[in-house]
Amino acid sequence: VAERLDHRATPVAQYRESYIIAQDEEGLVIVDQHAAHERVLFERYLAEAERNEVEVQKLLFPVTVELPPHEYLLVEKEAEELRRLGFLLEPFGGTTVRMDGVPAVTSGVDPESLLRELLGEAGRASSAASDVEALRRKLVTTAACRAAIKVNHALNRESMQALLDDLFATVSPSTCPHGRPLLFRLPLDELERAFDRR
Ligand SMILES: [Zn+2]
Repeated sequence: VAERLDHRATPVAQYRESYIIAQDEEGLVIVDQHAAHERVLFERYLAEAERNEVEVQKLLFPVTVELPPHEYLLVEKEAEELRRLGFLLEPFGGTTVRMDGVPAVTSGVDPESLLRELLGEAGRASSAASDVEALRRKLVTTAACRAAIKVNHALNRESMQALLDDLFATVSPSTCPHGRPLLFRLPLDELERAFDRR
């Protein structure tokens, strides 16, 4: 089913604090809340990075991070891309960097562990000699995953509605950035068939 931009789904309930049960004109839709939020953040963050307009959250207290030498070299090598992605990093002597800012989209995430995770990803990606766009998508995917709401997290009706609206405004509302499905449909006619109503 091709999703339309004006698609409107309304939340019915949250199941196990992990799935949003919603309804639209076709029937019931069950949405994985983590994967859905991941999709929304991924598209927003990637678009900002491509326009070189990532919103940066300045850290009130800059964080110094001592890196293994190969990751320090990676910070130097990918300096332009890391800046584009909203990471404000300065050399701080030896193999230590000072983080002065992070992408606003990840403001709820521990900056040091996020940086270490992204550098790990970047290390694996650059040894695979992939291009800058592939690297960007990879880093944006990881950051979106870390920043997205988790499963086992209660949501009120307003936040469920907001998430559904944001999801159906994305380009690919049915898969998460890792490529897994994020929604499951139960159309009304299937439901009625199951009850021998048609
Ligand atoms: Zn994830």
